[in-house]
Amino acid sequence: MVEYIFEYEICAAAIMTVLIILFLMKHNYPSTSNKLYFGLLVLDLAAVIFDVVSIFTIAHTDKVPVWLNTLVNMLYLWSFNGCALLFCVYVIFITKRGVITKANRIVCSSILVLETILIATTPFTKLIIYFDENRIYSHGPAFILLYILSYSLLIYVLILFFLHRKNLNKYQILAVVTFTVATIAAVTIQMIDNRYLIQGLVSAFFLLIVYVSLQNPDDYMDKKTDCFNRNAFNDTLDAFFAKGEKFTLVVFTINDFRYISRVLGSAAGSDLLDNLAMYLIYRYGKNNVYHLISSNFAIVVDEEKETVDGVISDIREHLNTPYMIDNMEILLTPCICTVYHPDFAETPEDITDAIDYTLNEMSSSQDSETIRVSGSALDIKHRENKIVHAIRTAIHNEDFMVYYQPIFDTERLCFNSAEALIRLNDYELGFISPDEFIPLAEKNGLIVEVGEIVFRKVCRFLSSCDTEKLGIKYIEVNLSVVQCMQENLASSMLEIMQEYGISPEMINFEITETSASVNENALTRNMYRLLESGSSFSMDDYGTGFSTANYLISLPMSIVKIDKSILWPAMKDESAMTILSHTIAMLKDLDKKIVVEGVENSEMASTLINLGCDYLQGYYYSRPVPENEYIDFLEKQPII
Ligand code: C2E
Ligand code: CA
Ligand code: CA
Repeated sequence: MVEYIFEYEICAAAIMTVLIILFLMKHNYPSTSNKLYFGLLVLDLAAVIFDVVSIFTIAHTDKVPVWLNTLVNMLYLWSFNGCALLFCVYVIFITKRGVITKANRIVCSSILVLETILIATTPFTKLIIYFDENRIYSHGPAFILLYILSYSLLIYVLILFFLHRKNLNKYQILAVVTFTVATIAAVTIQMIDNRYLIQGLVSAFFLLIVYVSLQNPDDYMDKKTDCFNRNAFNDTLDAFFAKGEKFTLVVFTINDFRYISRVLGSAAGSDLLDNLAMYLIYRYGKNNVYHLISSNFAIVVDEEKETVDGVISDIREHLNTPYMIDNMEILLTPCICTVYHPDFAETPEDITDAIDYTLNEMSSSQDSETIRVSGSALDIKHRENKIVHAIRTAIHNEDFMVYYQPIFDTERLCFNSAEALIRLNDYELGFISPDEFIPLAEKNGLIVEVGEIVFRKVCRFLSSCDTEKLGIKYIEVNLSVVQCMQENLASSMLEIMQEYGISPEMINFEITETSASVNENALTRNMYRLLESGSSFSMDDYGTGFSTANYLISLPMSIVKIDKSILWPAMKDESAMTILSHTIAMLKDLDKKIVVEGVENSEMASTLINLGCDYLQGYYYSRPVPENEYIDFLEKQPII
């Protein structure tokens, strides 16, 4: 009589029980992979329990009736083989991103039916197991068939897994590989010494790894609002696409939510989201509400109960009811968009990309109309992706060009400075305006590298020409907000200037008000270091932001650049002219040098000269031009 060592199975049963309890305690997102996983947990636990029970019943055939002994063994065999089958279905499901093909369905269900028939009929056919006349447990002639079926399916699934491994993340690969290696080890150990029952423990570890890394319910929940989160939303979309189902979404964000939580505190902000989520769940059901990010929510419209218009007006009405925070009544306005499928999207990512883009655009333009998300959002998003790719390539190849726009000195009547402006010409997209790609470089963390390339090119240019002969006193270089937030901005700029032997006086840095508002401390420290070395600063785009007088006083700027949006209206409108002339007068009183940008004709030039502007920049004098044309331009100027 074999003395089985079944303590491992008890340990496996304990682990599986804990996992089942944990799983049931959380509100689980009803995805297919969750259902499959839960099925696997239950079936594995059943297999382990029946395994242990069958060891006892087989050891005590004299006391246990044959029919009960046979039944226990049948249940064990069915649950054990069922586990192998379900494991295969689970792996097929994750490797094919939720699509179980018809062929796979047919193979798996045929195996299930065949195994069930073989096991269910064994009391009569004795094909799988039986108890002989001495009540000794024996394997029937077809017993081996169960192994062959399960193992061939397993091998097929592993091939599938290997072929489609690109669809899996590292945790999924880890779980499947560990399980396979451990199973081979367990089978080998059991072959060498069949007293060790460790297959159950291997399964338990697999289920544990999967729980921790993949099927953890917390990954699908937004802890703050107790709503399903973006992962769950992505899974839902995957499932809709896999099944080829129609669906409609209403997605919205609260306008100014960031502002609300900044002014009222982040606790008040999350309170607001909590209440809103509670209402949405109560109104549309837990499984239809997703909290995506910030104040963005998505609702899957259950068209049997609701209409899209009904959902939209309900959300508007709900947010339009004054919301109380700290005894203050707040009215919230949403930006709402709708998504229909099938419509424009070919993949689930198309839907999420288009939603992100549309909501972003709507909240920056404070759009209050409901917008139907369309393929054009996707085109823009795709263009953005291409531009980001073009920026990366240009960084890698240092492909950016720097153009120079000469600036006219109205007192000395010469062009003694210029603004360096970046140019990007991509082989596929053609010329891309900096107004389009600079914000994308900022958003994607590439602007610091871009800024450094521009700065190096400017320094290389200055070191390569005779600046004195050409009459260049300094070049104005744009600094983006993100660059100004860098603690080491000054030191890296000074290092580059040193490398090219450029005196810091040759550089004037242009910064905007936004840069000052983001991190004034770091900016001021950097500014003083550069000032001490001899560089100077301009306040760019004056008149486009809040134009707070504060920054004119607190930041050490010698030049203020008045934006074209102040100049152009002034040429047509008297009140706008009053603003322009008073702005100029105020800046002069503050002892600032003034540059006006966007000077396009002689009328603008003479008006500005009469108002006492120090420098003029614009197409009237020259467009931004490449280095050699800039030098030609300067060489043709009469020397004064
Ligand atoms: P900005 O700093 O305000 O630069 C002035 C923009 O006005 C330039 O556009 C210039 O070509 C344009 N401009 C100059 N005179 C006239 C005129 O008379 N009429 C009209 N219609 N436009 C005129 P550009 O080169 O397209 O640059 C756009 C923006 O991109 C810049 O605005 C700046 O914010 C950013 N940028 C350009 N180069 C760089 C750079 O190297 N680094 C950073 N961070 N930003 C840059
Ligand atoms: Ca500028
Ligand atoms: Ca400007």
